[in-house]
Amino acid sequence: MGKQEEFVLRALEERDVRFVRLWFSDVLGSLKSVAVAPAELESAFEEGIGFDGSAIEGFARVYEADMLAKPDPTSFQILPWRDEGPSTARMFCDVVMPDGSPSYADPRNVLKRNLARASELGFSFYTHPEIEFYLFKNAPEPGVDPIPVDRSGYFDHTAQSMGADFRREAITMLEAMGISVEFSHHEHGPGQQEIDLRYADAMSTADNIMTFRTVVREVALSQGIWASFMPKPFTTHPGSGMHTHLSLFEGDQNAFYEAGAEYQLSRTGRQFIAGILKHAPELSLITNQWVNSYKRMMFGTEAPSYICWGHNNRSAMVRVPMYKPLKGQSTRVELRTLDPACNPYLAYSVVLAAGLKGIKEDYELPREAEDDVWTLTDRERQSLGIDPLPESLKEAILIAEDSELLADALGEHVFDFVLRNKRAEWADYRGQVSAYERDTMLPVI
Ligand code: GLU
Ligand code: MG
Ligand code: MG
Repeated sequence: MGKQEEFVLRALEERDVRFVRLWFSDVLGSLKSVAVAPAELESAFEEGIGFDGSAIEGFARVYEADMLAKPDPTSFQILPWRDEGPSTARMFCDVVMPDGSPSYADPRNVLKRNLARASELGFSFYTHPEIEFYLFKNAPEPGVDPIPVDRSGYFDHTAQSMGADFRREAITMLEAMGISVEFSHHEHGPGQQEIDLRYADAMSTADNIMTFRTVVREVALSQGIWASFMPKPFTTHPGSGMHTHLSLFEGDQNAFYEAGAEYQLSRTGRQFIAGILKHAPELSLITNQWVNSYKRMMFGTEAPSYICWGHNNRSAMVRVPMYKPLKGQSTRVELRTLDPACNPYLAYSVVLAAGLKGIKEDYELPREAEDDVWTLTDRERQSLGIDPLPESLKEAILIAEDSELLADALGEHVFDFVLRNKRAEWADYRGQVSAYERDTMLPVI
C-alpha cells in the first residue's frame, strides 16, 4: 500500500470516521455513491468495491455488469455537512473491470485518457469554471412554478439577502473540503448566483464541480431552499451557464502566452481556439446535453448562439479576456457554451480534444468578431462566416452522430450510450404538448 493510502487509513481512525462514501460519476454526470465501513477500505484500495454496472446510467451491458470502484486516496475529504457525531468521508473512485483494466464507461477514465494525450504533446490542461445556478424558495413539484429566493440582479448587494447568506455558507463548506473559491456574486436573474472556482488542473476541476453541485444542494436544503443547475428554468430570465477559462501549460510556462503578440495570445493559443470553433457544433451534445440546454442559448442573455471568438465581446462563444499587463502568464481563453448540467469530465475531454486537434493540424483562426453578433442580420453573419450553434438537442444529435472527434475522445461505448440516451430524451420531449402551445392556440383555433 502506498503512502497516500496509509495516510487515509490513519485519518479514518484519528477523525473517528464511521462511513466512507465512494463517489463516481455516471455517463450523464450524476454523482453515484456507495458507503463502506472503514474496515473495508484496505481491500477497496487493493481490489476495489464491486457493484452492478448495469444498474448505473451508461455503464455496462447486462452481460458484463460486474465493475469495481477503486478509491483515489488523494481525493480523501471529511464531509463538512455531517459534523454531528462520528464523521463521514468521501473519496472519488476510478471504475475498473474485474480484470483490473479501466472501465470504458467511467467518465473520469475518459478524461484521464484525454489528459494523457495532451501530456504526450507536452501539455497539461487547466480550467477555471464560473458556475451559475438558481436558488428557489420551493422544492420542485410538477405543475408548480419555482419561486426565486430574491428579486436582486447582477452584483447586487442586498442587506440580509438570502443569496449572500447562502454563498457565505456554501463557500465556507467548499473551502473546508479543500476547494478554493475565487469569486462569487449575485447573477442577473432573480435568485441566480455565481461561484467561480480557482484555476486547477482539469481533473481536479471536474471532481470539484461534482463536489460543488452536491455541496450547493446540501447547503440549500439545510437553509430550507432549493438549488438547481438547470440551464434555463425560466423563459423570461437568463439561463445558468458554466463558462470555463482554459489554458495549456508546458511545464510551468503558459503555452497560450506570447509577449508582444496580439492579446498576448500565442500561436498555440490561436490554434487551440480554432479547434474549438471548428468542432463547436459537434461538441454541443456534450457541453449542452439536455433538451433544456438549448433554450439557454437564445439571443441576448449573454449565452452564446453563434460560433465566433472575440476579445472583449460578450456575444462571442470564445472570449480572450482582457489581459492584465503584469500578469501575462495568465493568458487564457473563456469558453462560454458549457452549462452547469453537463458531465464535466466528458465536457472537458471533448473541448480539450478539439483544441489539441487545432494545434496538431495547425488550424487557422478566423477573424475575430468585433460586433455584437446578436444584433447582426443572418445575412451579415453569413458574410462574416459566422455560423449558428445547434439550436436544439435534435440538431446537436444529428451533428454528433457523424463526429469522429467525439467517437475518438469519448471512446465507442460512451459515444454510443450518449447518442442512444439523447435520442430517447428527444423522442420523449417531442411528444409533449406544452403550455405555450395551449396558450397560443386554444384561444384562437
Ligand atoms: N448567464 C449567462 C449564461 O448563461 C452568463 C452571464 C455572464 O456573462 O456571466 O451563459
Ligand atoms: Mg456569470
Ligand atoms: Mg464569463
